[in-house]
Amino acid sequence: MTGNRSSYDSRLAVHDLRQADEAWMRRALQLAERAECEGEVPIGAVLILNGELVAEGWNQPISTHDPTAHAEIVALRAAAAGVNNYRLPGATLYVTLEPCVMCAGALVQARVARLVYGASDPERGAAGSAFDLLASAALNHRPEVVGGVLADLCGELLRTFFQEKRDV
Ligand SMILES: [Zn+2]
Repeated sequence: MTGNRSSYDSRLAVHDLRQADEAWMRRALQLAERAECEGEVPIGAVLILNGELVAEGWNQPISTHDPTAHAEIVALRAAAAGVNNYRLPGATLYVTLEPCVMCAGALVQARVARLVYGASDPERGAAGSAFDLLASAALNHRPEVVGGVLADLCGELLRTFFQEKRDV
């Protein structure tokens, strides 16, 4: 039956999407670990266009003396430079922590189609936790938002990092 078949297909598609989301989030987690190795808060991001990785970013404001050098901004800048376009329609940005207001704003500027994040950030998150910027009707572009992908792994990395800082 056509109806059953299409709902089966859509379940498969959702399953595949979830698997792809987790795979890219694992790459973002590796970049978060890289940030940690460089003495930065462990947050990582990747930008995917047409199923391919076009840019990576990890948090680096301290080492670069740049308050805007969050993982998402680093990835967006690299991606835009790579494709010679300040806009990235159709792109998905994966990041291990819910974006702050600045990064959420940058995602809108870049016309990123989809945001996938790991752990929520109750203190600064702008995708529904502290602010719900990306759902604002005032915006002319609103990325689709998926949160909670590998949230435990993403959050654990941050918790351990801050725990170790306190113990020093
Ligand atoms: Zn940010």
